[in-house]
Amino acid sequence: MPYKFSYFRGKILGENIYNKLFGISNKTCEFVEKVQNECAEVFFGIEEIAKINQLKVINAFRKQNICARHFNMSTGYGYDDDSKVALSGLFACVFGAESAIVSPLIASGTHAISTALFGVLRPGDVMLSVVGKPYDTLCDAIGLNGPKGYGSLIDWGVKYKQIDLDENGKVDIAAMINILETNKNIKIAYIQRSRGYEWRSSLTVDEIKDIVTAVRKARNDVHIVVDNCYGEFSEILEPTQVGADIIIGSLIKNPGAGIAPTGAYIAGKEELVEKISYRLTAPGIGCEVGSYAASYLPYYQGLYFAPHVVSQCLKGAVITAKAFEMLGFDVMPKYNEKRGDITQAIKFNDEKLLIKYIQSIQNASIIDSAVTPIPWDMPGYDDEVIMAAGSFIQGSSIELSADGPVTSPYIAYVQGGLNFENCKLGLMTAIERMNIL
Ligand SMILES: *Cc1c(COP(=O)(O)O)cnc(C)c1O
Repeated sequence: MPYKFSYFRGKILGENIYNKLFGISNKTCEFVEKVQNECAEVFFGIEEIAKINQLKVINAFRKQNICARHFNMSTGYGYDDDSKVALSGLFACVFGAESAIVSPLIASGTHAISTALFGVLRPGDVMLSVVGKPYDTLCDAIGLNGPKGYGSLIDWGVKYKQIDLDENGKVDIAAMINILETNKNIKIAYIQRSRGYEWRSSLTVDEIKDIVTAVRKARNDVHIVVDNCYGEFSEILEPTQVGADIIIGSLIKNPGAGIAPTGAYIAGKEELVEKISYRLTAPGIGCEVGSYAASYLPYYQGLYFAPHVVSQCLKGAVITAKAFEMLGFDVMPKYNEKRGDITQAIKFNDEKLLIKYIQSIQNASIIDSAVTPIPWDMPGYDDEVIMAAGSFIQGSSIELSADGPVTSPYIAYVQGGLNFENCKLGLMTAIERMNIL
């Protein structure tokens, strides 16, 4: 008997597997299957992006001649650590950058971004954010909030300026050019690609290209630094391939594919990457030192799997957007909008629905599925937040995860999912438990 697509959609021998294993009603299953059919064309586009990125990655492995010995560990100073050198070269090749630092010694995305800023900026220089307020944890590193005297950029005599997004949530290019022309101390134009936890669009690489062009026209002595977190492989080009000087991202997000256990990368212009390496370890030493007493294998494997895993996350975000759109909620981005990152925002306008949604995502996770998250006063946040994070790698948000500040208009930010099936199960669980169908 030939395989029939409709037969296998969630059914084994006539039984509904979502119902059998997870207690999801036929009504919810049928709704989500219908939503998935509506997403077919968008999914096709995502698969095309994944294909191109996968081929880019395979090409880079071959070009860099990655060998089994590159998985070897190192100890002590890590002199002649070939694995580290090859891994950095591999990332640089994939991102079209001159040079890169890829290191398990970088503790997080924030650590990497902070290191890059401290590495490039000097007292008296001005950092200009062109996307309004940066990601929360960066505000502390810059010195925009919190106590004085703990060594933020501002403590060190670096100045900070920002241009708020315009009324359409877009970068205000005219205002940016104006300030670049009048303030000659501006050294860095800073771009955050992802929406982070703001109700705004993420930047597409095309939009980043427009910003780069405008900055270059106004000034050729300004470095363009992009917080690339959540963005990698969501499009066919990275910001470095449209003229950004430095991109930075976390390995427990997109480029680690849920396999890399920790770390971050910094890639871009060689001269700047070198300066940043002096900040990472010590001036004059840079990446000459730094060992890792475990195998580098998961970093290589993570990069290899990243284009596919990102495509799974994107499909999860798209089906989630479409489902909640059809159920009457406001979502950002819309299911068929061009995406510059893997995050999806859903506006619930209702505290109970937000909490139920986050709890459902936790319930559909593979790790800690029995845990019920509740809102709490997380340090560094103004409002209570609620988070779902049932991941293999602690805090990894390339894995299925969601959170939201418990305040009006009750927006959930959801991202990740190592495979589409898990994203879809999370969606079904949420629709079932929220009782909104
Ligand atoms: C995740 C992220 C960061 C860095 O966060 P860490 O938790 O320190 O890794 C910075 N900017 C954006 C937009 C992010 O999504």
